[in-house]
Order: sequence, then C-alpha cells, then structure tokens
Amino acid sequence: MSVCFRPERLEEAIELLADPATGAIPIAGCTDLLVQWHSRRERPNAVLDLLGIEALRGIEERDGALEIGACTSFRTIGESERVLRHAPALAEIAGTIGAWQIQNRATIGGNIANASPAGDSLPVLLALGAELVLAGPAGERTVAYEAFHTGYRQTALEPGELIARVRIPLAGEHAFGAVHKVGTRCAQAISKVIVALGCDRPGGRLTGVRIGAGSVAPTPVRLRETEALLEGQIPDADLAERAGACAAGEVQPIDDVRSTARYRRWVLGRLVRRMVLDAAGRRVP
Ligand SMILES: Cc1cc2nc3c(=O)[nH]c(=O)nc-3n(C[C@H](O)[C@H](O)[C@H](O)COP(=O)(O)OP(=O)(O)OC[C@H]3O[C@@H](n4cnc5c(N)ncnc54)[C@H](O)[C@@H]3O)c2cc1C
Repeated sequence: MSVCFRPERLEEAIELLADPATGAIPIAGCTDLLVQWHSRRERPNAVLDLLGIEALRGIEERDGALEIGACTSFRTIGESERVLRHAPALAEIAGTIGAWQIQNRATIGGNIANASPAGDSLPVLLALGAELVLAGPAGERTVAYEAFHTGYRQTALEPGELIARVRIPLAGEHAFGAVHKVGTRCAQAISKVIVALGCDRPGGRLTGVRIGAGSVAPTPVRLRETEALLEGQIPDADLAERAGACAAGEVQPIDDVRSTARYRRWVLGRLVRRMVLDAAGRRVP
C-alpha cells in the first residue's frame, strides 16, 4: 500500500475521492476489506481513511429521525440508549455482528456499502424504513434505503459519493420491531437467513408493516406479499402460520456454501411465523 489519506473533514474526503488522480478506496473499520484483499491477494494503491472524520460518527435525534453517522461502530450502536429506544432491533443485531473485536471496528456504513446479501444490518434497515444521506461533489442527497441496493453487490452510490449517515424514523408509541438471524452457530456466524419486522400495533392491529429479509436473494429484500397479508390484521396463531407460508413462497434463495435454498425457505417461514406470534404477545411454541 503506497498512500493513506486521513482527512478530518468530510469535504476534504469528497475532494480526494472525486479526484481520479488519487484512485483512493474509502476504508472505515476495514473488517471486510482486509479479508477481501487477503483472499484476492490485492493491495490498493491508495486508501481514504474515514474514521478521523467527526461528522461521520455519532448518534443524534434530528428532524424526527435517529441519525447514525456512517462510521459509527456496531458496539456504539448496540450500547446506545437512543438506538435501544427507537430501533431496538438494530441494537440487537449490532450485538450479533462477529464478536466484540469486530463490533469495536466494524461500522454501519461499511456494512451497507459492502452490500453483501448476508449483511446483518441491511434487512433491519429495510424493516425500519430507513433513509441514507449520501455526500458527494454535488452536495448531499437522501435516498430511501430500499432503493439503495440496485443488484448483487451494486449500490446507488455515484462515483465520488460516500454514505454520510443513516436516518431512521423515531419510533412512535405503538411501534413494534423484531429480528431473527439463523447461522451455523449461535454466535460468530454469517447469516443463512435473517429477517426483521417493523410495524405499529395500535389497539393490537398491525399497520405500516415492513419486513426485510437477507441471504435469500441477491440483495436484501422486502417481503411485500407477506406485508400485505399482515397489514391491518390482529395477529394470532392462524395469521402467523399463513404469514410464514407466504414468506417461504415469495423468495427464491439459492444453494451455496452456507445453506440450501430449501432450508432457507423453510427457516424464513418459521422465523416470520415466530415474529407474528411475538407481535401477538404469545409464547412461541
Ligand atoms: C470475523 C468477521 C466476522 C464478521 N461477522 C459479521 C456478521 O456477523 N454480520 C455482518 O453483517 N458482517 C460481518 N462481518 C463483515 C464486516 O465486519 C461488516 O460488514 C462491517 O460492518 C464492515 O464495516 P467496516 O467499517 O469494517 O467496512 P470496511 O471493510 O472498511 O469497508 C467495507 C466496504 O464499504 C466501503 N465503505 C466503508 N465506509 C463507507 C462509507 N461511509 N461510504 C461509502 N463506502 C464506504 C469500503 O470502500 C468497502 O467497499 C464480519 C467480518 C469478519 C472479519
């Protein structure tokens, strides 16, 4: 590696990134990049270290949303009172990303930009109705998170743009959220299936239902048929069974080194069933 740029201001980082002469790759915690460089025997000519940019860190409440800087670590997210109050499913999943060494380094922006279909924060952000603020040479723009992943490992980032922060609507009084992740082990495992639910439950009825799923398609996806089935319903055991069957039927996962398509569909159905039972406040048998 020949050059490492360490800007302290976001504007400086964008200038460096937009300058083709630098050819710099943005790095944050480097927990994905170091593994990729090692396995491909690559070394970048120049890197742009984002961790020194204060504007990319921290968790605030602003304009009706929780704003999480892209370079905020999963440890900070998992321990944040604000995230626990407004996005508990995100706090929960933050505590399952690798072990504490990884959680101390890994950032939410890196998880999103790496764009793995198995990235654990991605389905949660879909379920929470998140937005991303992207910063580039033309200034900032906001994109709905569900429009960000445009294909397998493809994103809506334009050349010279960075993810600046994630915006999550503040949770209302009736908000309900849940997330379940299944891997080979209970800890330190890449997801075979991950699914998250976000909705409101005024009077026990499910409204504004959003379900995000990962590791079942080339990108994280919303389960729109299952969402439509649940919308406006009072959850019970029968609805939970039907929602599980619907979810299993609306994805086309693949067989790969971590699992089979058949297992993924089955597990997804069971997890969705469990989340609906959770929403009904019933013990999960
Ligand atoms: C042992 C181990 C266990 C792991 N376990 C899990 C797990 O359980 N779940 C999981 O989801 N992941 C896991 N990961 C993967 C990884 O830790 C996460 O994806 C992490 O969030 C990546 O963040 P980072 O800051 O390290 O990103 P980096 O490696 O620094 O960067 C990743 C990509 O994002 C780009 N990037 C970074 N920040 C920005 C930004 N602000 N704007 C634009 N582009 C940016 C980089 O250019 C690069 O392409 C694991 C990795 C390891 C090594």
